[in-house]
Amino acid sequence: MQPNTLAIHAGYEKDEQLTMAVPLYQTTAYEFKSTEHGANLFSLKELGNIYTRLSNPTTDIFEKRFAQVEGGAAALATASGMAAIFYAIANCTKVGDNIVTSDKLYGGTYTQFVHTLKRFGVEVRFFDTFNVQTAEELIDENTKAIFFESISNPSIDIPDIEKIVEIAKKHKILSIVDNTVATSYMFRPFDWGIDLSVHSTSKYVTGQGLAMGGIIVEREGLNEFLKGNDKYAHFNEPDESYHGLVYTDLDFPAFCLRARLSLLRDLGSVPAPFNSWLMIQGLETLKVRMQAHCDNAMKIAKFLKNHPKVKEVKYPLLEGDKNYDNAVKYLKDGASGLLSFDVGSFDVAKNAIDKLKIFSLVTNIGDTKSIVTHSASTTHQQLSDEDLLACGVTPGLIRLSIGIEDVDDLIADLDNALK
Ligand SMILES: *Cc1c(COP(=O)(O)O)cnc(C)c1O
Repeated sequence: MQPNTLAIHAGYEKDEQLTMAVPLYQTTAYEFKSTEHGANLFSLKELGNIYTRLSNPTTDIFEKRFAQVEGGAAALATASGMAAIFYAIANCTKVGDNIVTSDKLYGGTYTQFVHTLKRFGVEVRFFDTFNVQTAEELIDENTKAIFFESISNPSIDIPDIEKIVEIAKKHKILSIVDNTVATSYMFRPFDWGIDLSVHSTSKYVTGQGLAMGGIIVEREGLNEFLKGNDKYAHFNEPDESYHGLVYTDLDFPAFCLRARLSLLRDLGSVPAPFNSWLMIQGLETLKVRMQAHCDNAMKIAKFLKNHPKVKEVKYPLLEGDKNYDNAVKYLKDGASGLLSFDVGSFDVAKNAIDKLKIFSLVTNIGDTKSIVTHSASTTHQQLSDEDLLACGVTPGLIRLSIGIEDVDDLIADLDNALK
């Protein structure tokens, strides 16, 4: 079945009520039928719900459905994208280990990597997104993963993904992609041999700016890579906190299983059942929304490119863009709703943004509603001009997350603001 059909049906078996909509199981805990039943659940002799920090039927449907849409074997939903990224890294590293990552990253991921992971004893080494070969020099025997974003937020860059996967396979380390911006529709991580994907579902998946969420998806067959692999000994040794369970002995995708039984249990960044329910609603319409976001963004990129006040436009599928070849190679049907353009100076940018009527000034992406951000006056305000340039931010840079309004209205709004 195609991803779009799976997004609407997968993971949900109707019970005797035969409800068309997926039920919302808003509950903390679940009753045991007997002491024996309770004991069996705790020892994993029988699978079932105990407590919502470990599993919830609504979240379970969202996870099963998302895994199938992405083309993976299993998924684990978390309370936010940052939690998903932290769990993915924490599930394959320990004190003294390191990971390598592309240097074009989401701001929250950058601070988690550079500050928080460092305090946990995990070093993060950065390679050049436009020269991924440099990753190889950073890898040593303690390197456990290679991380990158398929379309980076906010810089809108696409690395040479095939090369990254080749390096990961050569050094037998896990490859992890943040697929938030491209979504399962524009980029198919497991077709390229990537081991794990993470998403912030707070963006395009919820789709209407309704709820926070994150998810980890693992590819089919990852157990064969983990089984007997000394680098990831904790998947092969008895887990004392789980009655000596050996994750790779079970016939179940081990990466997500361990992240649930160990990390979700102990750290607890579990999604609210209601948020999982909202994510299911979002997932059902994700494909049509993504097509609308991409079509609108492409038309606006072309409009801005021909506008006399605009110095430069950045959209991966615009001919002449630095990422054009990678965009054509890796993306299907579009390059998301993110684009940026430069109007030359801080004041021109500021004036234009204040004149926009449909676009809202917000630091978020992936909403049905169009969003504008001016990094130089908000997120990057504290940086010197030199540091701004190093982050790829110029004073006249305007970033857009194009929504799914009528594109003629969006173009008219931009045209008026640039007068
Ligand atoms: C927003 C975002 C995150 C963080 O997700 P939250 O749900 O806000 O915690 C991570 N990666 C990318 C690419 C993002 O856009």
